[in-house]
Amino acid sequence: MSSNSDQNAIVAEHLCKTVGDAGARLAVLDDVSLRVPRGGSLAIVGPSGSGKSTLLGLLAGLDLPSSGRVLIDGTDLFALDEDARARLRATRLGFVFQNFQLIAHLDALHNVSLALDIAGGPGSPLREAREMLARVGLGGREHRKPGVLSGGEQQRVALARAFVTRPGLLLADEPTGNLDAATGARVIELLFELQRQQGSTLVLVTHDAQLAARCDAVLELQAGRVLHRGGASAAAAQPAEPTESTLS
Ligand code: ADP
Ligand code: MG
Repeated sequence: MSSNSDQNAIVAEHLCKTVGDAGARLAVLDDVSLRVPRGGSLAIVGPSGSGKSTLLGLLAGLDLPSSGRVLIDGTDLFALDEDARARLRATRLGFVFQNFQLIAHLDALHNVSLALDIAGGPGSPLREAREMLARVGLGGREHRKPGVLSGGEQQRVALARAFVTRPGLLLADEPTGNLDAATGARVIELLFELQRQQGSTLVLVTHDAQLAARCDAVLELQAGRVLHRGGASAAAAQPAEPTESTLS
């Protein structure tokens, strides 16, 4: 492991994703590289269909690239078998989706404690889930199921589920996309607050330029390619330097 990868929570090198067959191939992602230092934040922006969700899915190891690699804390995600990858996801990654993705038949408490059950480890999942729900302002609503919670409340449950395992890396795909502006703003404040408190690294897909500007760096996609990189921390989203292993 190089000293370069040591300080990055996540590195993506030359990610490509092609779909379709030889007759109609579509490059959904074309040579996308990025890196985010530990504790830093990166916003991914770009028009609908530019490949943002596909990229986030690859960073989470939920989908396989056609080529390229992803390093999480220096670990090559796609060199792991599926079990090991799922284990890394459960213990080191949190994911927040636009449409919440809560389990409908479980109450808020068990949606959150399930993440701890899957991650394993010491401690009491139900007690920790209860504490986390209180921190996101849902104390007293632990036993409500998603169907009787508002959109904002459901996304708070999803934030509690994502952060309860204290993941080093938090991936969020348009987390305010299904919320009204005021509710979305409160959810975002909570997300940044939890990120700060836990010192986690954040990769955030958003349509909101103001929100993107709050991240350390911004990566803009267009038609699957990197159109622009910017942000306060010049180094934060630069492509990873080619290493011997990527050249060999
Ligand atoms: P975004 O999140 O930026 O809106 P997506 O990553 O969801 O974009 O999708 C990028 C493009 O790739 C879209 O045109 C989408 O239709 C296409 N796409 C994604 N996955 C597949 C797939 N498995 N098969 C065919 N097309 C796909
Ligand atoms: Mg998307």
